[in-house]
Amino acid sequence: MQLPKIRDDLSMLDGYHSPQVDVKIRLNTNESPIAPPDRWVEDLSAELKNISWNRYPDREANQLHTDIAEFHNVGPDMVLAANGSNEVLQSLLLTYGGFGRKAAVFEPTYALHSHISALTGTELIVGECNENFAIENETIEGVLEQQPSVLFLCSPNNPTGITVTRDFIESIVERCAEIGILLIVDEAYGEFSDWSAIDLVREGYKIAVTKTFSKTWSMAGIRLGYMVAAQEIIESVRTVILPYHLDALKQVAGSYALRHISDMNSRVELLVQERERVSRKLLELPIQQWPSGANFILFRPTNSAKITGSELWEALLERSILVRNCSSWPRLEGCLRVTIGTPEENDSFLEHLEVILE
Ligand code: PMP
Repeated sequence: MQLPKIRDDLSMLDGYHSPQVDVKIRLNTNESPIAPPDRWVEDLSAELKNISWNRYPDREANQLHTDIAEFHNVGPDMVLAANGSNEVLQSLLLTYGGFGRKAAVFEPTYALHSHISALTGTELIVGECNENFAIENETIEGVLEQQPSVLFLCSPNNPTGITVTRDFIESIVERCAEIGILLIVDEAYGEFSDWSAIDLVREGYKIAVTKTFSKTWSMAGIRLGYMVAAQEIIESVRTVILPYHLDALKQVAGSYALRHISDMNSRVELLVQERERVSRKLLELPIQQWPSGANFILFRPTNSAKITGSELWEALLERSILVRNCSSWPRLEGCLRVTIGTPEENDSFLEHLEVILE
């Protein structure tokens, strides 16, 4: 029995690898360490009885789109939800990328931007960030000259934590609009930052800003993300969305989450405080770190620590603490990324780190 070979361009691809190991303290995938509010779980459980399970869900997810739109103070026709922001990104690339087109990223950044480009047959243009992981104007110009259809910016950026300013994005937006490039701002960690590119969408710029319920909303398990974008972009992306892609429970889960905005804000506040506390402690150790605007910190042992990034990762794992090992990623030699956990988890991480580095 023979199967056809998979697409030639796919056979070269490396899938997404983030070990799912059973450990006591999981600080590797930037989820929220805190469960969603009890009330949300109760409301959602009660809703199980009301859903017409034998019927397809609302194809347009009207209520959810209206609720998200209200939260961001935009029109409901400027919102499109999907199964995680990864699906939003994929849908954007299916619409605006594809064979014969190019997408641009600034490395190091979220691996799925280039991965989804490859999956959709979109050629990749890579601009390299400078040694502080900032994007230089020259690099942007070099990338724009190659006329991509899509330009990705990630702010705060995963895995570096670097946040870009409004001025910076504004200068790029103008250039993209002149050339006819879709700017996608990935704000998976946007709530940890003090501004959002959704401001620019509200002001009429034709860009797409992607957001997720996986991080600050404590709902990684439900797989819900969305974009806020110019109405024209939403309309176009609807062409590639599969019918009824968003199940009934997920639609309600998202709407109910939006009843708990102040809980979400206090979780963000706590995690930001904890991030600063962890960062201050790292300053006392033989560790280099980068300033983070997100719920994680990129760091690496310095030469005086006399341990490689991978050895440090292993040593933490032996103590049942899982962080992300980025040490073999391009530009990130020796680096690890720790997600900010609960105060107790962070204490434990810091105590073990200190002992290992002694
Ligand atoms: N963008 C970035 C920058 C991320 O780090 C992640 C999750 N790791 C995503 C998007 C995808 O999030 P979701 O769970 O909404 O698919």
